[in-house]
Amino acid sequence: MLSRIQTEPGVSRAELARRFGFSEMAATRIARDLLGAEIIEEFEFPEENSSNQRRLGRPRKGLRINPKGVVAAGITVSAYFSEVSICDANGQTIARREVSNSSFEDATETARLYSYALRDLIRDTGINTSRIIGVGVALSAKTSPDCSEIIRSEYFGWDNDGGQFWNEVRRNTGLPVVIENIANALALSEMRFGAAQGVSEFALAHVATFAGVGVVSKGRIVRGATGDAGRIGHFRSHRRPLRCTCGRDDCLNLSATGFGLLAKLGKLDHDKFKRSKLPVYAMSLLDLIDNEANSEHLNEAGGLLAEALDPLTKLLAPELIILSGTLGSNSIYFDGARERLTTEYGFGSDSGFRLVKGEVSPADAASLLALHTFCYSDRLDFERLNAHAWDHNKRTANA
Ligand SMILES: [Zn+2]
Repeated sequence: MLSRIQTEPGVSRAELARRFGFSEMAATRIARDLLGAEIIEEFEFPEENSSNQRRLGRPRKGLRINPKGVVAAGITVSAYFSEVSICDANGQTIARREVSNSSFEDATETARLYSYALRDLIRDTGINTSRIIGVGVALSAKTSPDCSEIIRSEYFGWDNDGGQFWNEVRRNTGLPVVIENIANALALSEMRFGAAQGVSEFALAHVATFAGVGVVSKGRIVRGATGDAGRIGHFRSHRRPLRCTCGRDDCLNLSATGFGLLAKLGKLDHDKFKRSKLPVYAMSLLDLIDNEANSEHLNEAGGLLAEALDPLTKLLAPELIILSGTLGSNSIYFDGARERLTTEYGFGSDSGFRLVKGEVSPADAASLLALHTFCYSDRLDFERLNAHAWDHNKRTANA
């Protein structure tokens, strides 16, 4: 019901009852509880100033999300978007702060640095912690199915952290925590607040230094039996005089990505991916895409991604493919992918899928992930929010 109220502000109790097959009394009771907990609010539609018959009856009322009733926090660990942020229940960013970070060597140290920054941001904005529904963490890693452990991160070099990252954020914020791969976090954010609203079958390719895909089917992330689904960065592509994190020289990670572009343009003095260079890769790629002289190379790299998107679309038959990330959302790169799909793979208006740029910034994916996980799901801790609202009302009454 909350999700429906979020996507359809102004919906009435009767409409909700009809939609979900509840009795009107049941819908009214649920709405009353949500109103009591200050998660939603009721508003009157502005009066229409014609000779509308409605003017004779009671003014029409609807329900909408109380944007400040629930807020969510996010930690984005990335060499491109190193940020902590807070968003309201409609996904609008309330506050954000950059985290200056040059080393990602140790998972626990990194978790400490970001969670302290988040704690400071919460304190400085004066937001009541009891209204913060949870913390989302988005990063380049494979996480456990329950999103509490980092199983592997080729990008940061963290393997089997045993829940240390999660624990550190939990301890320093006192809030529920969810850790998710950046491509998956972006996919869920696009589904709820961005380009994939109302779409249940789609894939999102996140392309920056490397490439990965988040696949959504029936509104849920597809993880596969091993949790490894979406590793298109290791699709076989062209051989390059480079080494992937997996040791091979023909991964897509070496051609269609930032790493591949930097090498091609002679910006690297080494041929094997180095974790100590993460901030350098990010800075250099941002410079590179800003320079018009590199347009042709950017366009070509997008074309190389198309070679991997084609089998993906044939396997998944998605309604939508979203390109995201510093490179994926770049117009020249995006056009390169679309042109190549069109000329070589028959992509067109009758292809059955659309190709679009992502609408959600990777910096916002973390807090939106927290909203998706802890607010618009059966994990909503209604008791906690309700207890607070009740305390607040009592205090106000006493005063
Ligand atoms: Zn590889």
